[in-house]
Parts: sequence; structure tokens; C-alpha cells
Amino acid sequence: LAKKLFEIRSVTLLAKKNYSQQVNVDEFFKFYSDKVYHDDRYKPLNGKDYDRFISMRSARREPAVTRQITSLSYKVGKQMISLAEGMPNENVFPFKRLLLDSSCGDPLELEGKELAAALQYLPSQGLPSLLTELRKFQDDLHRPPQLPRDILVTNGSQHGIYQCVELLVDPGDPVITTEFAYTGIHSTLKPYQPEIIGIPEDEDGLIPETLDSVLGERLRLGLKMPKVLYIIPTGSNPSGTVLPEARRRQIYELSCKYDFLILEDDPYMFLNYTDTQVPSFLSMDTHGRVIRLDSVSKVVSAGLRGAWVTAPIPLLERLELHMQAELLHSCTLSQTILLQVLSSRSSLARHLIGARQFYLKRRDALNSALEPISDLAPYSVPKAGLFFWIRVNGVSDVFNMVFHTALQQGLMLVPGQAFLFDSSSPCQHVRLTFSRVRFEDMETAVRRLADLIRNEQQI
Ligand code: PMP
Repeated sequence: LAKKLFEIRSVTLLAKKNYSQQVNVDEFFKFYSDKVYHDDRYKPLNGKDYDRFISMRSARREPAVTRQITSLSYKVGKQMISLAEGMPNENVFPFKRLLLDSSCGDPLELEGKELAAALQYLPSQGLPSLLTELRKFQDDLHRPPQLPRDILVTNGSQHGIYQCVELLVDPGDPVITTEFAYTGIHSTLKPYQPEIIGIPEDEDGLIPETLDSVLGERLRLGLKMPKVLYIIPTGSNPSGTVLPEARRRQIYELSCKYDFLILEDDPYMFLNYTDTQVPSFLSMDTHGRVIRLDSVSKVVSAGLRGAWVTAPIPLLERLELHMQAELLHSCTLSQTILLQVLSSRSSLARHLIGARQFYLKRRDALNSALEPISDLAPYSVPKAGLFFWIRVNGVSDVFNMVFHTALQQGLMLVPGQAFLFDSSSPCQHVRLTFSRVRFEDMETAVRRLADLIRNEQQI
């Protein structure tokens, strides 16, 4: 398809086909290029001059530390070892096999009407044939209780998060999250000025009893009650926990008791390294309280931006309105490819098992490297996802160590405060990713980390 697009873009070829004559490409671009216009009576704007144009909501946006680290990782030299990037490993991506096995045929070979459709506008909800496939996929995987709910295709689940925040949060609204939560929820929420209710986790994730007592106390004091809980039930980012079924049921019950919705963000669902697949919140949603976000970014391709929201219809209708205003619809080409990927179930299952094994091997290797320093930096082995969440002993705040000393020593890490809503608070935790680091660099990375911690403890 990329080849075909290239052909379509090639002015010379198009001209040849349509008019049987050669076009002078330089002349073509000269014709369309801007004529230079100078008015030196006025001073050009720069720097702070722009502040007065910026809306208050935009001015409240802050960069996510993890995105800054991602851009840094493109700049640093080879001697730097990164345990910081949350990106999936592109070696699990090539999914050509999935496409070849697909009953719909290879989208790279699309022709005629089908190619035209893949290049056309769509209804805002998504490609109709993909929606049909996704409804089947959700029913087979989660068997949700029968309620009026439907699906909207988004451009990645970060886009879904953004849409749901826009849907649910007004200034001053309380929002429940885990105490440390995915940076993408915080960066989206910040301009909406919510009150964050951060609930602590243990090695099994969010503690329902604490949630119950925090909400009970708010009720007693007559404080505003939250409308939504954001949670990553499998392989939480950053804590790596998997919420056991009993806790999910307790939390679901609390959502009914205190009348809030559950925003279930589950991109690591297929990277569960335990033997038990825990039922999703969607699968227990008898009362229409769950908005579920799915994404293939971690296991098929991050660049495809293949993701979807499953929600009760009254909420979904509003999300569709946001989509109309924001994007018109998610990318048609990506949706066409996602349809092919999902439509061959047996090869998809094979691919997902392979992806899980690929990351499990990496998790075990980093675990073996970390075990000898677990007295300096205790941790629980992540049960799913891509992250080790370590607590650094004897260091009250890791920020300096991670942002100055570690970088000088050739090691990239993410400090725990990146996952706090108020990122200026001190923090003892560091997030390590095993996704892309080379096996042969893992021990060196851990040795550097141990040296850093020992040095920091002495300061
Ligand atoms: N949710 C969580 C918990 C994530 O870790 C990420 C990616 N780091 C996302 C959402 C965004 O995923 P997507 O690529 O589908 O936008």
C-alpha cells in the first residue's frame, strides 16, 4: 500500500498516465510555492510574545517526563544504557505473517474499490467491518453482560484517555487513580484541574479497603464525590501489578456503592506472565459502569495506533461527537490493517503467545540481574507488562540521582515522581523497563545502578 501511495504521489507517473505527457516537477512546485512577502514596519513575534495568545487550558499543559526521556533517547550516544523507555520492542511488531494468514487478504495488495475505500473518509465511529470484528472480539474475550454498549475506534488508547477525560472531568472534579499512575493520564488531566485521589497499592495493586475508607470518609465529611476511577488492571504502569479477581470484584462493587465509573485501561492484557487470566472489569459490568480502553500498541504495532473504546451507548455517543470535532475519524488505512490483523484469530493467537514469551524472557533476564541488589532496591517481580518498580533504600528522593548522576554514568531511568500528579513531591521509587535494553547490557546497567545507589546513600 505504501508503494501504491508513493506511485500516486509521484507527479510524473500520474501525469504520464492521465495526460500521456511528461511534467516538469520543478515548475510544478514553483507554481504552488509561496511568494515571499515582507513587511518590515512591524517587529516579528518571538518567545514570550506568544504568551498572550495562549488559552488558559493550553498554558496548564506540562510535558510528561517519559516523553522527554523518549526524545532524549534518540539523542544519546551508544554508550548510554536505557532502562527508561516505556516503548515496546519493535522486534515483536513485524506482523506480515498475520496479514498473509488473514482471510481478508494482504492489505498491501489491495486493489480497485478496496484500495479506494482504504483511502477514503469514514463514519466517526470507525470502519464498519472493523467495528463488527471488534464487537465479536470483545464478546469472545470478555463475554460482557448484555447491556446497550458499543465501540469507537481511536488513534491509540492515549487518544481514548484524552476523549474520556474531556467527557467526564470538569475543574475541581475529584478523580481516583492509583497513587502512582501512568503519565499519560496525568498529562491529560492537568489542564482540567481535577482533584486527584491517589489510592496506595501493594504487590497486588490498588487496595480496595483503602479506597472504601477514603470514599466513606469523603461522604461523611460531605466532600465532592468522584465520578471516575482510572485503573490499569494488568501490568500497571508503573507498578507492574495485576489486580486479582477478588479485588476487581470489590472495586466494581465500590463503583456501585459510591456511584462512580471505571475507566479500565488494559494495553498490557496480552502480556500477563502468570498462569491465570483475570476477568476484566468489562466482563463483570452488570450495571453499565465500565469504559474499557484496548490497544494493540504493545503487541502488534505502536505506530499503527490501533485502539478502541468500549462503553455504554449514551457515553459512546458523546465520544463520537468529540471524534467528529477532533479527528473526524481515526485513520482509515490503520483501521484497514487492524481489521486484517484481528480477522485471522489463530495466527493472532500465535503472535500474541510469541509476544508474551518474548517479553517474559526479558523480564526474567532483568530479574536475574536485579536479584543480587535487592537489598539496596527491593521490588516485586512484575506479573505482567513491561516494568519493574523498585524502591531505593536509604535515599529519600531519587530525582537528583536519576536526572543528574545516572545520566552522567550512562544510565537512563525514570524517577518515581514522573508518575505522581504533583511531580515536585520527593519519591523513593524508580521505574525500570526491560522492553528494549540489550540482554548483554542488563548486568552492566544494574551494576551502574547499584553504584549510584551506594553513592547516593552516602551523601
Ligand atoms: N495506557 C497505558 C497504561 C500505557 O502504558 C500506554 C503507552 N505507554 C498507553 C495507554 C498509550 O497506548 P497507545 O499507544 O495505545 O496510545
